[in-house]
Amino acid sequence: MALAELVDQCEGVSVLQKSLKNGRLAHAYLLFGPDQTFLEKVALNLAKTLNCNNPVQSENSGLTVDCCDQCDSCRKTDRSNHPDIQFVRPESKLRRISIHKIRELMRTVYLSPLLGAYKVFILAGADRLGPEAANAFLKTLEEPPNGSLLILLTSDPDKVLETIRSRCLRVNIGMGQGVGFSPDQQDWILNFSKIATESKQGLLARYQLLSPLVEWLKKRHELIKKQLEAESPLKLSVELEPAAKERFKKELDAAIEAEYRRERSEQLKLIQWWLRDIWLSCLGNDNASFRFPTAADYTRIVSARISSRQARQNLDQFETTQGLLQTNVQEGLTLEVGLLKLNL
Ligand SMILES: [Zn+2]
Repeated sequence: MALAELVDQCEGVSVLQKSLKNGRLAHAYLLFGPDQTFLEKVALNLAKTLNCNNPVQSENSGLTVDCCDQCDSCRKTDRSNHPDIQFVRPESKLRRISIHKIRELMRTVYLSPLLGAYKVFILAGADRLGPEAANAFLKTLEEPPNGSLLILLTSDPDKVLETIRSRCLRVNIGMGQGVGFSPDQQDWILNFSKIATESKQGLLARYQLLSPLVEWLKKRHELIKKQLEAESPLKLSVELEPAAKERFKKELDAAIEAEYRRERSEQLKLIQWWLRDIWLSCLGNDNASFRFPTAADYTRIVSARISSRQARQNLDQFETTQGLLQTNVQEGLTLEVGLLKLNL
């Protein structure tokens, strides 16, 4: 994928391309928008473009505007093993970006790029930087070394500390209709909305919604565990000291938990977006404003049987469920209650 493909989906991407074309790339960006996956996609494609070996150049300025999406560097980036492109994500049960991670990042930011022209640091969850980590980061954010770019991402820009926000160029990566969601995500919501409408309105119908969600979560958890275990130093054949082993084990558990929570939250956001479609439909908006146009028939069935007030309550209710899950509540029960309370 290249930036050109993302421009069609989002106006904000063209802002980035314009900066490239005019040679006016900022040294730090804060990309914000509702969809974390899409934000990461945009950031990664910008990073890919800056390090591409065979970039697309502007006819007017001759400057790089996009990546070729084929060269060795582009492929490395896609496989997440480009040495000059680093991701920082929130971790631990608190889903914080630790000061330790920030210090590590600052150590590498001043080293020259290894392969490409740019060192790019993508910091997902900029709202998860605590004051201590943020303070440690400010100086680098203000004056990153030449040849480096910091891209901060957040789906909640209001929660990003003002000291951080003011030092970045902010770009809104909101999306148009039906975009930003992968075909898998669209299919998942289609199936979910179908189940919600198939049986008559009632407790049993909402109960049936629980199983596709729980099944999906279980599968993802297993997959994340498998992937992260494979990358853990515990997998090395060298003999580890018991203390080191214990530490790696703890780090691994925390990483699995953090990634799982992130994906769970993204999945629940899909449901939130669909509940928003229902609400819009209750208010008389049609298809054109839906985020899931493929599920429009089911959206209309639900909106015809509930009031706009109930649709609004659904949104608030599900927001509460998301919030609860950020704390250490029991997941199964919280999801069950969250779904049962919906008016569908
Ligand atoms: Zn390339």
